Amino acid sequence: MQKGPYEKILIQQCATCRICCHGNVSEGVCGYNTIEMIINEEIPLDYIKKMVVIQVKYEKMDEAARKWWHFPKENILKDLTLPENGVYEFLAVPYAIDNCIFLSNKGCMFPKAKPFDCSMFPFYFLEGKFNWIDWCPLIESIKEDSKLYKYFYSKVLKSTNNYKKFSKKHQKQYYEKLKELKNKINFEIINF
Ligand code: SF4
Ligand code: SF4
Repeated sequence: MQKGPYEKILIQQCATCRICCHGNVSEGVCGYNTIEMIINEEIPLDYIKKMVVIQVKYEKMDEAARKWWHFPKENILKDLTLPENGVYEFLAVPYAIDNCIFLSNKGCMFPKAKPFDCSMFPFYFLEGKFNWIDWCPLIESIKEDSKLYKYFYSKVLKSTNNYKKFSKKHQKQYYEKLKELKNKINFEIINF
């Protein structure tokens, strides 16, 4: 499929930038897309072992969802998996003081396994409001072009809704498959 002018801007900008993938990268909560790739053996074991499991108590779920951009209008972090004894567990790409564990000199090594916030970056919806991270160089182009703003607004809205549907559909599988993975791999456990 031929790419439109805006896809070109985004891709060109990111290809020479990568600022968001190195230097103080926050942890990224993985959706079922990442777990599916692990099951399909599309991510080598050495990389999987570097991932972490984050535990979040029920009462801290709203705080976690806001931090991880999973609160577009309501908490969609709860759609990802099922709780056990009041605790949710999420597979995550860990916080990195330097490079993200998935970053190579050609960019993200596993684009299909990216956490949701990486796929949306630098945009996100929070409690109904469209936001972005100002330091991303892409933002300069948006400030000068209202069409570009509208383009990203609808793209991010659509992707957020699709992610929510996808998460709901695989909610039970996420819970079960992550349990199986934990039996095979000794992930570092982090408490939110
Ligand atoms: S900081 Fe912005 S322009 Fe740079 S790689 Fe990330 S999303 Fe692309
Ligand atoms: S998962 Fe990929 S896109 Fe996200 S920070 Fe790491 S290298 Fe970048």
